[in-house]
Amino acid sequence: MPAMLPDFSLRARNSFGFEVLAEQAYSITDAEQIGAVMEAIESAGLPWRVLGGGSNVVLPPTLSGATLLMDIAGQAISQQDECGTVVSVGAGVNWHDFVIWTLDQSLPGLENLALIPGTVGAAPIQNIGAYGVEVGGNIQSIEAYDCHSKTMVTLPASECAFTYRNSIFKAHPKRYIITRVHFYLPAAWSPRLRYADLAAAFANRHAPTAEEVMVAVCKIRNHKLPDPKLIGNAGSFFQNPIVENAQYLALLKQFPELVSYPEGDEREGKRKLAAGWMIDHCGLKGKRDGAVGVYQHQALVLVNHGGGNADSVLALAKTIQDKVQDTFGVALLIEPIRY
Ligand SMILES: Cc1cc2nc3c(=O)[nH]c(=O)nc-3n(C[C@H](O)[C@H](O)[C@H](O)COP(=O)(O)OP(=O)(O)OC[C@H]3O[C@@H](n4cnc5c(N)ncnc54)[C@H](O)[C@@H]3O)c2cc1C
Repeated sequence: MPAMLPDFSLRARNSFGFEVLAEQAYSITDAEQIGAVMEAIESAGLPWRVLGGGSNVVLPPTLSGATLLMDIAGQAISQQDECGTVVSVGAGVNWHDFVIWTLDQSLPGLENLALIPGTVGAAPIQNIGAYGVEVGGNIQSIEAYDCHSKTMVTLPASECAFTYRNSIFKAHPKRYIITRVHFYLPAAWSPRLRYADLAAAFANRHAPTAEEVMVAVCKIRNHKLPDPKLIGNAGSFFQNPIVENAQYLALLKQFPELVSYPEGDEREGKRKLAAGWMIDHCGLKGKRDGAVGVYQHQALVLVNHGGGNADSVLALAKTIQDKVQDTFGVALLIEPIRY
C-alpha cells in the first residue's frame, strides 16, 4: 500500500490554481494498490474521491478524507495487424504526451484531441472531445477497479455509454476507478476537418497529415484558450446546451446570429447551441468579479486571476446561468466536477 501523504497541497494539481489541501492523499502507481487503499478508507469511514490532473474540477480549500492521485504510468502497443493497433495506457499518463507518442509511432487518429489537459484515465469520464472528435470513438476497453464488487473489471466500450461529455463513469462517479485504457487506432485514416477553424487552416491545400492536423489544433487552441500555467482555468466551464429543433428555430427567429452546431443524427431533431456565444451576447465576456472572471477572448472559460476559490467561481457561474436563462430560456450546465 502506498504511503499516506497528510495535508497534501493540490495547488499544482488543479488547473484553476486554487489553494487546496487534501487531508490525506495516496499516490496510486499500480492498480494492485487500490484494493488495500479502499479497504483502509472504508474501515476508517472516510469520504474519498479520485483525482487525475485536476483540470476538470472545482476543488474547495480543504478536501476532507482521502484523495487518490492517479499516477499509473506506461504505454505500449498490445496488438497490431493490418486493420489496426491496440494501445494500452496507464491512467496517470499525461493525455497530450500520449497523443504525441501515438503520432511518433505512426498511429494517427487522436490528433484532433491534442493539447487537452489532464490524464488518460480521466479522458473517458466526460468522453473528452474537440474539433469534431470524441475519445470514446477510439476506446476499445477500459480496466477499472469496481468499488461495488471490489475487483478489477474490464469494460468494453459498448458498456461505457459514451455520449456528449458523458459516460457511465460520470453517471456513476463512485463506482469505477479507471486504471488503464485500451485504445483502438484503425490503420485506415483520413483527416477530420469538419470544424470550421480546422477546415479554414487547410483551405486550398493538399490533404494534411495527422502531424499537420495536430500542429493546427495546437495553434488554434493556444490562440483561443488560456494556458492554465499562466492563468488558472478549467477549460469550458459550461456544456453547450442541446435543445429540440423546435426550440432552436424559435430562438433563431429572435436571435438570427445564434451560433449552433448539428447534434448527432439530424433525424433526431436536436441542435447544440454555442454556450460561449450566448454568454457573450449577454455582455458577460471579460466580466471580472473580484479574483475571478470570464476570459476576455472566450466567454465559455472562467478564469482565476489570482486568489480566487471555489465559492467565488461558482458565484460567478450562477450569475451567468441566471442571465442566460432569462435571455434565452436555456439552462447552462456546469462542466467541471464540483467537490
Ligand atoms: C485549458 C483547458 C482546456 C480544456 N479543453 C477541453 C476540451 O477541448 N475537451 C474536453 O472534453 N475537455 C477539455 N478540458 C477539460 C479537461 O481537460 C478534461 O476533462 C480532462 O479529461 C480532465 O483530466 P484530468 O486528469 O485533469 O481529470 P480531473 O480534473 O483530475 O478529474 C475529472 C473527473 O474525473 C475523475 N477521474 C479522474 N481520473 C480518474 C480515474 N482514473 N478513474 C476514475 N475517475 C477519474 C475525477 O474524480 C473527476 O470527477 C479542458 C480543460 C482545460 C483546463
